Amino acid sequence: MTATIDHFVGGERVAASGNRFGDVFDPASGAVRARVPLASESEVDTAVAAARAAFPDWAATAPPARARILFRYQMQLRDHIDELARIVSSEHGKTLDDARGSVTRGIEVVEFACGIPQLLKGEHNEGVASGIDSYSFRQPLGVCVGITPFNFPAMVPMWMFPVAIACGNTFVLKPSERDPSAAVRIAELAVEAGLPAGVLNVLHGDREAVDGLIAHPEVDAVSFVGSTPIAERVYRAASQAGKRVQALGGAKNHLVVMPDADLDQTVEALMGSAYGSAGERCMAVSVAVAVGDDVADALVERLSPRVRDLHIGGFEDPQAEMGPLVTGAHRNRVRGYVDAGVEEGAELVVDGRGVGPTTAGNGGNGGTDSDGGFFLGGCLFDRVQPQMSIYTDEIFGPVLSLVRAKSYEEALTLVNDHEYGNGAAIFTRDGDTARDFTTRAKIGMIGVNVPIPVPSAFHSFGGWKRSLFGDHYMHGPEGVRFYTRLKTITQRWPSGVREQADFSIPTHR
Ligand code: NAD
Repeated sequence: MTATIDHFVGGERVAASGNRFGDVFDPASGAVRARVPLASESEVDTAVAAARAAFPDWAATAPPARARILFRYQMQLRDHIDELARIVSSEHGKTLDDARGSVTRGIEVVEFACGIPQLLKGEHNEGVASGIDSYSFRQPLGVCVGITPFNFPAMVPMWMFPVAIACGNTFVLKPSERDPSAAVRIAELAVEAGLPAGVLNVLHGDREAVDGLIAHPEVDAVSFVGSTPIAERVYRAASQAGKRVQALGGAKNHLVVMPDADLDQTVEALMGSAYGSAGERCMAVSVAVAVGDDVADALVERLSPRVRDLHIGGFEDPQAEMGPLVTGAHRNRVRGYVDAGVEEGAELVVDGRGVGPTTAGNGGNGGTDSDGGFFLGGCLFDRVQPQMSIYTDEIFGPVLSLVRAKSYEEALTLVNDHEYGNGAAIFTRDGDTARDFTTRAKIGMIGVNVPIPVPSAFHSFGGWKRSLFGDHYMHGPEGVRFYTRLKTITQRWPSGVREQADFSIPTHR
């Protein structure tokens, strides 16, 4: 019988009480590996009630005491990194190395959150007026909710809750229903590290659970990461319900290749950033903009054999460079975009349609997908035009589009005119061009000769334009600001001097 995944509420695994379930697949075989409960309204209430009940004591716990638990938690996570990576890979399909790397990036946010006593230090002004001192500090919001996407089932939740709970909030995480198991294990490890019951809860579900959480009167803030249409919808609904909200959306990340770029380095960068994790990363490079035909021709010549030779396999295959896509439905959607690109007139230089895992003797991107599993080979398009759907839309698969630009200005205009503004990179040896790009690109995170410029945990992560709705980025200083609100005290102590009533606005006399 297929196992059913539990929620994690009030410090323990809790069996589903509703009657709606979804399938969780093994992407490498296509088989159903588990059932995930899709929470009902009453399960939403139970999870929020657990978080609300835990809030007063947790908010009153001194920040150094909270930090001590987080120190133990990050050790606990490190001790279980292989187990967590296997859980991620088995439900998502990405390679074990990639999964391990993503868990590590999540743990770095826990490390950042260990500094919470320092991060929460306020400001103090002595004597802003005669006998009056003024000081500001930040306090937690209450119950915070996190709604996360399938592509980083451990890391993206860890962008949110470590900072939220370090600040004194309690948290309900609604992970993706496509790969939900990692969230339960990371919450369980937090309790094993000493986090009090109810501070971190995991509730599985789909739109019904999300709608219930963002409208819930006991929820104070919502962090969302996912596709742009849902991010926008969640942002509007949560704002209307009076919540503080940050909603990170989709991306179409461009990598501009200047004529003076180191081509060997650029090709390596494009391979990893376009095809790593089968392109299912919000910071994946999905558009290469070659400045000049010479650069474009050289890139196509060097990339084509590399894409054809990609070693494709399930996460148990230690040689795999790229795994399957997360579900059959998503694989078919990506394949549909490749069909559309051909129909729209782009040149499909490497066709990964119908390609399955690499087996001995078939030389890389050359198997067939007839054995089940949600595989798709690497695809490379040349001569892509800005009006084509493979350029305008986020495909979220192993498909790289090459656009030919005549000049740097034309390349920059492409970057700036695109509706998404998550990440972009420029590859060049020229400091002047690089500096111009970092100044003028309308993009949240920029790499200079770095293809996936994901900020470290102590900086903040977020895009511009339709890649982010709200005012705050995630983790780093922006995360602390999002999960706290400012309070400012103006105080005077009786000093024997009696003042008369003053009917005009107080000034700094
Ligand atoms: P998705 O938008 O389908 O789902 C994200 C979350 O929203 C899930 O928890 C899901 O259950 C929930 N959801 C789905 N439909 C909903 C609805 N109608 N109403 C309310 N909630 C709903 O995204 P996904 O396919 O899981 O993830 C891939 C997307 O996430 C890509 O667009 C990718 O770019 C984006 N992403 C963005 C970032 C970023 O930092 N900007 C990071 C990772 C992923």
